[in-house]
Amino acid sequence: MKVGFIGLGIMGSRMAANLQQAGHELVVYNRTQQKADKLVEQGATKAGTPEEVAKACRLVITMLSTPDAVEEVAFGNDGFMKALPGNSLWVNCSTVNPSFTIKMAHQAKKMGQRYLDAPVSGSLVPAEKGELIFLIGGDAADLEQVQELFNVMGKETVHVGAHGQGASMKMVNNMMLAQAMASFAEALKLGTALGISEEKLCETLLGGPAAAPFLNLKKDKILKREFSPQFPLEWAHKDLHLASVTAYEQNVALPSLQATKELYAQAKEKGFGEEDLAAIYRLFLSEEK
Ligand code: NAP
Repeated sequence: MKVGFIGLGIMGSRMAANLQQAGHELVVYNRTQQKADKLVEQGATKAGTPEEVAKACRLVITMLSTPDAVEEVAFGNDGFMKALPGNSLWVNCSTVNPSFTIKMAHQAKKMGQRYLDAPVSGSLVPAEKGELIFLIGGDAADLEQVQELFNVMGKETVHVGAHGQGASMKMVNNMMLAQAMASFAEALKLGTALGISEEKLCETLLGGPAAAPFLNLKKDKILKREFSPQFPLEWAHKDLHLASVTAYEQNVALPSLQATKELYAQAKEKGFGEEDLAAIYRLFLSEEK
């Protein structure tokens, strides 16, 4: 299948590489152009703008950081939407909020195009191994058209419901994820204050039922103080912010979400934003003060 792929960061670069290895023809765009080089060496066509991608493809996947980035790439001066042939399909894998997603789906429809929200669960390693979980909002027929691609990039596809529902599931997932990470960091803080070693705490807590399974993947980062990004902390903060906006829109109070969001804001203020989300623990380390 010929696929336009826009956004070759931590996740997008690996997802696109898997599509390429499975034999799909790629037209790629990334704002920082060098990030496309490896895919281009392997046969992908490099586009100079998002608009150029749309001139070559009827199917575009975006994997971008924030709603603003998505809007700019889709509808900005060089945006791809205006150049797509009619009845093309835009698959947005970026983590964005449900109301924004619904707005994108409506705008696409007004322009005679189709849209799927397709955010993913899983980080750098699952992206590399083709083991992501796709959370889909949109029409079943559109999903069917691209299921083959999701099967290459992921191990499971959940059709949650109509437009916005994939983004909604992703929002509640990441709200739990960021809070579990912060809660674990606080547990380590209290446990070490009580004289238990970090190693013993990790071994005991991560083997027990109270810890979220993904925390096992963060153990080495914490013990070795190695915080290279798999899921950048700044995107966890972004997701907490988007969950907060969503809670406001839904008239729902989420007090612990708000407190956790500010913890991530503090970590960003300290310069940990581009590190892995596990770097939230750095807030609690005495040598960091
Ligand atoms: P990343 O490595 O920071 O990549 C972000 C991408 O967005 C890059 O291609 C970046 O281009 C592009 N971008 C940002 N602002 C832009 C703009 N104004 N115009 C054009 N391009 C722009 O992030 P990531 O980890 O791959 O995450 C991508 C999305 O997936 C985010 O929504 C994130 O929340 C979500 N997600 C991440 C993970 C994870 O574990 N990493 C897991 C699930 C979902 P440049 O290269 O030029 O900066």
